[in-house]
Amino acid sequence: MNIPNYVARNARKYTRHEAVVAYEPTGVSRHSWGELNIHVNQFAHYLQHEHGIEDGDRVALFLPNTYAFVVAHFAVQRLGAIVVPVNVRLATPELGYILENSGARLVVTCKLTDAAVKPLQEQGVQALWLDDVNAMLDGLPAREINCDSDAEDPCTLLYTSGTTGKPKGVLFNHSALLHVGMMFAVEMQYQPESRLLSLMPFTHSAPLNLELIGGTIVGCTHVIAPTFTPDLLLDLTEKERTTHFFGAPVAYLLTAQHPTIESRDLSSTTHWIYGGGPMAPEHAKLAQAAFKSEQFYCVYGLTEAGPTGTLLLPHEHAEKAGACGKRAAVFTEVRLVDDFNNPVGDNEPGEMQITGEGLMLEYWQNPEATAELFTEDGWIRTGDIAVRDEDGFYWIKDRMKDLIISGGVNVYPREVEDALATHPAVLEAAVIGIPHPEWGESVKACVVLKTELANPQEALKAHLQPLLAGYKIPRHIEVLAELPHNANGKVLKHVLRKQQSQ
Ligand code: ATP
Repeated sequence: MNIPNYVARNARKYTRHEAVVAYEPTGVSRHSWGELNIHVNQFAHYLQHEHGIEDGDRVALFLPNTYAFVVAHFAVQRLGAIVVPVNVRLATPELGYILENSGARLVVTCKLTDAAVKPLQEQGVQALWLDDVNAMLDGLPAREINCDSDAEDPCTLLYTSGTTGKPKGVLFNHSALLHVGMMFAVEMQYQPESRLLSLMPFTHSAPLNLELIGGTIVGCTHVIAPTFTPDLLLDLTEKERTTHFFGAPVAYLLTAQHPTIESRDLSSTTHWIYGGGPMAPEHAKLAQAAFKSEQFYCVYGLTEAGPTGTLLLPHEHAEKAGACGKRAAVFTEVRLVDDFNNPVGDNEPGEMQITGEGLMLEYWQNPEATAELFTEDGWIRTGDIAVRDEDGFYWIKDRMKDLIISGGVNVYPREVEDALATHPAVLEAAVIGIPHPEWGESVKACVVLKTELANPQEALKAHLQPLLAGYKIPRHIEVLAELPHNANGKVLKHVLRKQQSQ
């Protein structure tokens, strides 16, 4: 079995059923599975004949969530080639790095994203503009191309978003991604009638593998738009009666502030899913109240594992919001170990490790990093420090790389961020370590306020006093208009750290 065969299967089984509803600046377009399959065949023929794309070649997609992305993604894989989705927020040198590192033969782009591509094209990079799919493919042969890739053949090369360093290419085969998609389809109860709202970029593992692949396995409808905004989330949920949405916690927090959320009918959505970071209990309550739903699911995982990992279910939120669940998703196992890979006891910090059917094959052309990632017995070292409480729930304390060591003691930034989140004026907080001549590092908080606060530094420190030990209370608190986020809504702490040293 391979991924593109599911598109061909859906074209036979659900020919007229909506596959993609694309909201784009040029208008809304609706495409059935039958039509999508024709376009995928046509574009695959085009890539084959005009660009000589074949088995094993890499083709980069520098496209936001558009119909063109969906067509190009399945067309590349149908030829046995490897799709390289690239975050459209990247600037020319960053895109250039990924194109070079992956050895991509071609980059597919569109008017929305071509500014970064043009300078590279001038340097000889092969680029192809795919804007109006109908117009471009009109009249091209639609003869069915059978994808003869095996489950073990590589199909997708995803670059990590680089929140912790230079992006690394994460290579997957069809088997891994089909398992990741099936995992999510089972856990989130996808049905052919489900309508998945994808506003987070398909260039990241969660929207791509959990939504696009998972939904395609089942034959769901993908409702997509190039960017996330609270307005779009509310408008498309109402208009398209979508059933599932996946977003970073910040997407929920921003939408919960929307002036019209109170009067919106969001009742079609049975699954409000968040991941990429935890939601502090106060924020989970706020989001549940604003969205008038208890149906919040937290997923924990990382790109290298598909992402597969653990799930926190709706009924567990009342007591355990902030945790990432106690049960590994289907096809997945998790464990918590010490530095010598021995299991740790309850409430003792250890590293979260993941194994299962959805793991990456390797870091692209980086055997050292691959060897560092996997344990000898084939588990992925996540680099996340976690504890398991007496009820078996896992709490991610932080990434090992974000840990602050101040005066020889460990401060987990997330603990401080969660405490800050309990203040009613705080919209978002990021806590980092900044160099300190005596203690090595001292704790600094960067906060974004949702309402005005007189003397915020004093007020927030006073708020934290009863909640945290003295050494965890930030010495410095800076109020910012916004925090730097990556395309998936994650705070870029390395950018904040860099700003401190300037
Ligand atoms: P890079 O790997 O380049 O730094 P990234 O952070 O975007 O980029 P991902 O693989 O998306 O890469 O991030 C996975 C990490 O996000 C996990 O290892 C964990 O630290 C954090 N994370 C994901 N989901 C959750 C969650 N539900 N709760 C807490 N932390 C989470």
